[in-house]
Amino acid sequence: MRISRIIKVGAVGVAASLCVTAGAARVDVYPQSFEAGGWGLDAQFMDVMGSPYLIAHGLGVRVLDAKARVAFPKAGEYRVWVRTRNWADGNPGRFRVLVDGKPLVKEFGAGPRIWSWEDGGVVQISGTEATVTLEDLTGFDGRCAGIVFDSDVKGGKAPEGALKINEADVAETVKADFVVVGGGMPGTCAAVAAARRGIKVALVQDRPVLGGNASGEIRVYCAGEAKHDLIRELRGYFMNRDVNIPFCDARRMRIVQDEKNIEVRLLTRAFGVEKKADGTIAAVKALDLKSNRVIRFEAPLFCDATGDGWVGYWAGADWRMGREAKGEFDESRAPEKPDGDTLGASVMWTSADANAAVPFSAPWAEKHAQGIVAVNGEWNWEYGIHRDMIAEAEEIRDRMLLAIYGSFSLAKKRQANANKVLNFCPYLLGKRESRRIMGDWVYSQKDVTSTTPFEDAIATGSWAIDLHYDNCKKGVDFLTTCKGNTYGRYWIPYRCIYSRNVGNLFVVGRCFSCTHVGLGGPRVINTLSQLGVAAGEAAVMCKELGETPRGIYKGGHVRKLQERLGGGFPGVPEAKTAGWLIVDDESEDVEFGKGWRKMHNANGDQVGDWYHKAADKSAETVVYPLPVKESGRYALMGKVPYLWFAKPGAKTMLEISSGGRTKAFTADPAQSTGQWVKLGEFDLEPGATLSIIPAKSSGLIVADGFALVRK
Ligand SMILES: Cc1cc2nc3c(=O)[nH]c(=O)nc-3n(C[C@H](O)[C@H](O)[C@H](O)COP(=O)(O)OP(=O)(O)OC[C@H]3O[C@@H](n4cnc5c(N)ncnc54)[C@H](O)[C@@H]3O)c2cc1C
Repeated sequence: MRISRIIKVGAVGVAASLCVTAGAARVDVYPQSFEAGGWGLDAQFMDVMGSPYLIAHGLGVRVLDAKARVAFPKAGEYRVWVRTRNWADGNPGRFRVLVDGKPLVKEFGAGPRIWSWEDGGVVQISGTEATVTLEDLTGFDGRCAGIVFDSDVKGGKAPEGALKINEADVAETVKADFVVVGGGMPGTCAAVAAARRGIKVALVQDRPVLGGNASGEIRVYCAGEAKHDLIRELRGYFMNRDVNIPFCDARRMRIVQDEKNIEVRLLTRAFGVEKKADGTIAAVKALDLKSNRVIRFEAPLFCDATGDGWVGYWAGADWRMGREAKGEFDESRAPEKPDGDTLGASVMWTSADANAAVPFSAPWAEKHAQGIVAVNGEWNWEYGIHRDMIAEAEEIRDRMLLAIYGSFSLAKKRQANANKVLNFCPYLLGKRESRRIMGDWVYSQKDVTSTTPFEDAIATGSWAIDLHYDNCKKGVDFLTTCKGNTYGRYWIPYRCIYSRNVGNLFVVGRCFSCTHVGLGGPRVINTLSQLGVAAGEAAVMCKELGETPRGIYKGGHVRKLQERLGGGFPGVPEAKTAGWLIVDDESEDVEFGKGWRKMHNANGDQVGDWYHKAADKSAETVVYPLPVKESGRYALMGKVPYLWFAKPGAKTMLEISSGGRTKAFTADPAQSTGQWVKLGEFDLEPGATLSIIPAKSSGLIVADGFALVRK
């Protein structure tokens, strides 16, 4: 046995550990031990390559040094081993290691194309402390997953595998009623929904911010129906790649921090579970990336919101990845035979205009651009459809970086782009799909196309079955196309948000129980966030009733859950609008003449399944008969779906007629954004009507639902 004792030594930064055998000493310097300077701490692949690592992601600008002060048991000679990987041909990620200011003889990041320990030669440590520095030489993603100093300079062998602390060495146990792992929008919604009902929640998130793909780190726009106020409170408000998305992160973080029932652990990456004899989860174990300590999160109920279904996977939950065969769920959009394909993953990116020329050159990446010359990239910069989204995720991310650097490098050769600066290109991979955890219901294409009104519906969506294909351009493997039809509003049953074989596990977000095709519609952020809200509410009910997630369904408690979610499901009226007299554009009494088109909103927040849009002011006037039975004073409410292209300032002319009197007023379609807004108060009699008059309107003209509320 090599290790006779392990002592935590006082490295400045955090922990390095010291292993001493008879006569030899080994000092392990973890990536987390460094003051990172400009290096990022990348933990997204640690379940595959073994540990977090430091990455010099400077977008072509050499990042600031990372430094660690390391304690040694004795002065003397040590052989230095550096765990690194040369990530691309042309050695773009080179860096140096300096010990007390002296560089080691070799450069790193130019060796093998796999993670391995490279021999950095022998150094003389003169005292019992030394400063270790990582110096980036390129600004292009050099990576270091730890350094080992071995006093056995002659006989020493390269360390084996990643640097890991002893997983059994638990530094802290956090106890909660409900542990949510993964702080994307769905996970955050689950945590807040539960906490606001008074139960104690722990939210474990591996990044410094919440939001997942919706965060300022990845910058995906939140689409889909934001059915609950909580989703509107926490969501992002900007389109893909917008520079302002970090504002939404700060806002979201503040809201969550203000919840006294939530213990949020950021920069904490779950890596495994402890199970009970009955197969349920006893605790989730996680690595605190700041302190390099193991934290145990113990609770009766857990929620997997990791996107990759990690918690379910560790707990032995049934899961799938890839595409089902057409025949299995009778899905016309599935392939004849099952395969491993998924939706691809993306790195969206932007550049900005500086007021002077700024150099950028990545010649080693240019061939990987496959002829694409670009200064930014949207959602369809996507790769990995035929790769393994878990095992090959790092290669998929690197393929995207090569495509981006190469395309931008080519673009920068043009005089017109001289001032362009690559200003946003994360090292985080935006994933759309990987593992899906199986529940008692597996959501599939037919549930969307038939808009099945599930009796246990807990969420609603209307985004198209939006599947992606890598057929955008011949010879280009990193650009995709999408294809999808809309089918009106569809419903997602409660049985999709818990594991069918791990009794205390909820599953929300993109790893919920569905087929590959079934994910295609609900996979937008607001819709998936509804799953989070439902899991949070259901967790509270589990605690109150002493039930399991499945027991909420089997025990007949779903109706109660639907009511607690505010209703608005098939057979369960919406609480917010109880008693309102609603008249929708789809009602038989409302006729749309020339100039109007029946539309469907992918965000689904119109009344009913459709809304109408007028091309211009030449459209015909539309009259809504108002369902007034008793004369009296009424508030008139209007609702227009959230249309991102609706510009504030448009004026829709409305006229309300009752008892021979007509009153004209205007409304701005951009004001509603999917929520009911009050348009005014009126004295109305039976026979009253409301008209939309395009001829007197300006800008976008939208017709959807109106409601009367008795005063
Ligand atoms: C480029 C792109 C464009 C898209 N376009 C749209 C769009 O326009 N509109 C839209 O609504 N949706 C869009 N989507 C889909 C949408 O982003 C996802 O479906 C959604 O973000 C899934 O949410 P999630 O929380 O399940 O997963 P994620 O958003 O991936 O969040 C999971 C979170 O869990 C954390 N995590 C993972 N493992 C662990 C662990 N072991 N321990 C602790 N934390 C962990 C991750 O860091 C992450 O923060 C797009 C996706 C991509 C990639």
